[in-house]
Formats: sequence, C-alpha cells, structure tokens
Amino acid sequence: MTIAVTRNRFLNKLPVIGPSLKLTLGGNSFTVRMSRQGKQPMSPTGQILENSSGTGGNTPVDHITEKLSHILVPPAPEMAGFKPFPKFSTDVLHVGQEPEQWNSMAVVPPISMASTFKQFAPAEHTGFEYSRSGNPTRNCLEKSLAAAEGAKHGLCFASGLAATMTVTHLLQAGDHIICMDDVYGGSNRYFNKCASKMGLEISFIDCTVVQNVLQALTPRTRMIWIETPTNPTLKLVDITAVCQVVRAETADWEVKPFVVVDNTFMSAYFQRPLSLGADMVMHSLSKYMNGHSDVIMGAICLNDDELTEKLRFFQNCKLLYFCPLEKFFTIMTIKVKLFIVLVLVLTSNIVCVIISEGLPSHPQYELGKRQMIGYSGMLTFYIKGGLEESRKFLKTLKIFTLAESLGGFESLCELPSLQTHASVPDEQRKVLGITDSLIRLSVGLEDVEDLIEDIEKALRAAVS
Ligand SMILES: *Cc1c(COP(=O)(O)O)cnc(C)c1O
Repeated sequence: MTIAVTRNRFLNKLPVIGPSLKLTLGGNSFTVRMSRQGKQPMSPTGQILENSSGTGGNTPVDHITEKLSHILVPPAPEMAGFKPFPKFSTDVLHVGQEPEQWNSMAVVPPISMASTFKQFAPAEHTGFEYSRSGNPTRNCLEKSLAAAEGAKHGLCFASGLAATMTVTHLLQAGDHIICMDDVYGGSNRYFNKCASKMGLEISFIDCTVVQNVLQALTPRTRMIWIETPTNPTLKLVDITAVCQVVRAETADWEVKPFVVVDNTFMSAYFQRPLSLGADMVMHSLSKYMNGHSDVIMGAICLNDDELTEKLRFFQNCKLLYFCPLEKFFTIMTIKVKLFIVLVLVLTSNIVCVIISEGLPSHPQYELGKRQMIGYSGMLTFYIKGGLEESRKFLKTLKIFTLAESLGGFESLCELPSLQTHASVPDEQRKVLGITDSLIRLSVGLEDVEDLIEDIEKALRAAVS
C-alpha cells in the first residue's frame, strides 16, 4: 500500500484575523473593535458594533478587514434571492411516494417491516421476495433520494461507510484509488486500514489542485474519491475540472475509472455532483439529509445502469424510513445562523484563522459559487493556543453539544484531532492542518442569540 500526501498550500492563504474589523451591514459601515490580548472583556456582538467614519489605511490588518468587509454583504441579498434546484420540493415530496402504489392509498409510505413476501407460484412474485434485496419502504426512499440528486438510481445502505465500502467492492485486488487527502476520518480509516488489505492501492492526494489528480492517475486507477467541502478543513474540489481531466486522460482506456463525490456536507439541496460530471454521489444520510440525529444510513445515487446492477448485488440495507422533505428545509435556517455565528467568531481576537466555504475570504470562494447553490452550517476555526484552550472552549460551551457528527437540528462542537479525525495518521493530520487548536462547529437551529452568547462565554473562558 502506498500513501502519498501532498503539501498543504491551502492554510497559508487564509486570512489571519486582526484586532479590528470593518463590516458592512445593510448598507451601513461598522468598525468592530476587539479586546486586546483577550484581557479586556468582549462586549456582546451588538454593542461592539459602532458606526465608522472609515479611517482606511494600508496595514496588513486593514487589508484583511477590507476583504472581510464583504462578509456581511452577501448573506442577506444572496439568501433573499436564493433558489433551490428546480422542482426540488415537489420531487422530494412526491417521487416514490405516490399513494396509488398502495391498496390503502396511504399518503405517507407505510413502513414495511416484512422480511419476506408471499409468492404466487415459485419465482412468481410482486417484485418483492426478501427485504434485503428489495423492500417497499426502502424503494420509496431510494426513489426520493435519486430525485433529490437528479439521478436515475438511488441505493440505500446501513451507513455512509457501508455505502463507501460497497462502492469500493466494485474494484479488485491490484486496482488503484485516488482519494482526496482531507476526507472524513472514517473514510480515511476505511481506505487506509481496510481497503488496503484487500490489495487495493490508495493515494491520498490534494485534489484541490487538478494537476495532482492527473499526476496520480495510473493505468490501474479505477476510482477517484472526492469530498467537497472537505471535513474538517472545508476545502473545495472543483468537481467539473477533476471529471474533465480524468475523462480526457482515460478516454481510450478499456476500463475507465469512475469519480465519486461524498456530498454529505452540502446535501442534495445545495450541490448536485452528477450534474457537474461525477459518476456517483455518496451520502452519509446520518447528517444533513436526515437532519434529526436519529438515523445512521448511507446512500449512493448514480445514472449508470450497469454499475447500479453491480451495487444492487452488494446492497445490504437496514430498514429505517424517514420523510426527507421536512429535513431538507432545515438547512436554510441553519445558513442564516451560521453567518451570524461567523461574525461573532471573526470579531474575537482569540481566534486566529476561520474557515467557511461561505466566506469571500475563503481561497476557493469563487469555485464555491460556481458549483454550489448555498453553504453548509459547518464552521471550522483555529483558537489561539493549543489543546488546553480548545478543551476549555469546548467544555464551557453549553448549547453546542460536545459530540461527533453534524448537520442536525442541534448545534454540535468537537475537536477533530481527538475525535472525528483521531484515526487519521499523525503525519497526515499535520499536513492537513488538523491540529489540537482546530475546532469544528455544526451550527443548528437554536436561537441565534443563545448560540452567540454561548460562544462568547466559551471564548472568554478559553483565554482567561
Ligand atoms: C459521517 C460521514 C461519513 C460516514 O457516514 P456514516 O453514516 O457515519 O457511516 C462519510 N462522509 C462524511 C463527510 C461524513 O460526515
């Protein structure tokens, strides 16, 4: 097994937050003054905003604040003009859930717990024989998921990682996988520790640079695994560019590699990888797609009939049904809150670098605008100091629950280096910038004033 790690050019480009910020809110310009060295108590967000006469200047901080001054401008108009994918709500509400398919004409699909189904004569049946190979309720969900992703086929699995594993089963010993270097900790662990034992060779590559993907391609490459935005450092991979490069390079190959995008962070609501050229979309439905933190499930959506047949063969799904619609709609509210929380974190001088794909200061902000139609509620930042400060911050938070996972109603916080990404080898974590001061927040649906107060208190406690 080979693990290739490329250098991280990403973190160097992020702005360092200085002691004062100029912000524009609803056409008004504000200067946000922050406490020095964290000794002066921070005022609540509303109070530290004061009208600015626009002093300007050319210090590095001014340069940064200049960039950041756009932060508050886009959210309001962008959100006002926000448009989901056409027919999204209608499809998600109705596709696969037609009452006419049930004798009872049930408007909501009945939960079918049956493991087996009566046959008219040997091998003559309604289309259902045994629930692992097909179940009426699961069928509804799979059709609904496919509609949400704009795909021909949808397949459910017992978890996101079970979906990952099933896709990987399409490969054979000797085949080569290119995987984005910054991926979900469990995906890294699976490829690194399990897939490699099956004789597969894995290269972890920084796919934010398309050239790296091209260089990593070998005649044995069968799968390119992308996650965008990545977990936890929220880098973006240009899906269209990667797919184009791979297609062009492998045009005359007998067995062509396929590109899979883990769309968990965006959900089908904000990003549709198949429309950008990907062959498959993978979801951990346990996160945004469900949104209730009460289900572990995964999915694959794709258009190719032959690959679908092979995947169906491997499929082994746990029967849990959820109503997708209700959950998709939580994302918009999360987005509004995220931006408010972002501003709070930005105005604190004990946070040195903040990462969100929705910030114009994000090095790939323009790419994000091209390939996504919105942003997740995920926010990552480096707190000043190290493990001790991180621990204190996380311990003081009351509303953000210290727990792994993301994308639920309730706000969560965690320390990737010790939690979700503890299984990533030390050396790789270092390259990726997953340090003990990197904190990940999943912003949920609680009252935003409470979220802000919670973060403020915790930030103060962490540095006092
Ligand atoms: C959680 C997660 C997974 C794994 O999904 P499970 O449902 O927990 O197995 C994969 N990718 C990403 C980005 C995730 O956040």
